[in-house]
Amino acid sequence: MPALLDIAGLSAGYGRTEVLHGISLEVRQGEIVALLGANGAGKSTTLNTVMGLLPARTGEIRFDGQSIASRPTREIVHLGLVLVPERRQLFGPMTVEENLLVGAYARADRPGKAALAADLDAQFALFPRLGERRRQLARSLSGGEQQMAAIARALMARPRLLLLDEPSLGLAPLIVAQIMEQIADLRRGGCTILLVEQNARVALGIADRAYVLETGSVALAGPAATLIENPAIQEAYLGGQGTGADRLELRIRARAAKYAARDVVR
Ligand code: ATP
Repeated sequence: MPALLDIAGLSAGYGRTEVLHGISLEVRQGEIVALLGANGAGKSTTLNTVMGLLPARTGEIRFDGQSIASRPTREIVHLGLVLVPERRQLFGPMTVEENLLVGAYARADRPGKAALAADLDAQFALFPRLGERRRQLARSLSGGEQQMAAIARALMARPRLLLLDEPSLGLAPLIVAQIMEQIADLRRGGCTILLVEQNARVALGIADRAYVLETGSVALAGPAATLIENPAIQEAYLGGQGTGADRLELRIRARAAKYAARDVVR
């Protein structure tokens, strides 16, 4: 199957500093691909460059066959790539519903009131807790709820490819498991996902394939089920405790946590 997102030989950076040194990766339709790596490896830089927030210095970025490298972000969003940024970046003084409606502003199809209301309802069906809090100010939400709101806001833009930057950041393990299961649900619903995570264990629990970035280069790549058993990954990112049974266990735990956590996320 041809890649939906195809990054080849991409370099990018800030000022005189080159952060990405010719990375290549692809995301195929319907996949969850994890981009893993330690602090400062260049994961967010990769997402920001794909979104046109940072220029590509060399290399190519193709989405559905067409070049998007260094195109204006608005055009990239119109093509169907939507970023859920690190630390969520909700509009705190606005309600949950208003934050979600902001997500739809970027759409090329200019939906009317009825279509927007239907899309809001779809998000609240997906994230019932957000529905209960639709008129609450975003800044008053818990961390887990804020992450859900940030994802729902992105979904209002009707993405063909969702780019998630560290959705687990700052959340308790049970809430992380719940968010991961919701991300897996999105994929089951047909969404394609590029998932940036420092938490390799949870990301490998839901991803099909993964790439490991080390100081701006791809150090390892492969199916998630293989990587989770790789001794180098276990040593560096899984605290040396990864086993072949981990992936299955993670999935079961995530599934259970999704239901158990319904009343815990506040
Ligand atoms: P983290 O999980 O900490 O966000 P990351 O893998 O996403 O890590 P990046 O945020 O992409 O890493 O950062 C990669 C490198 O680029 C780091 O050395 C960082 O200091 C540098 N960097 C990031 N943003 C900027 C910026 N706006 N200006 C200058 N340097 C930056």
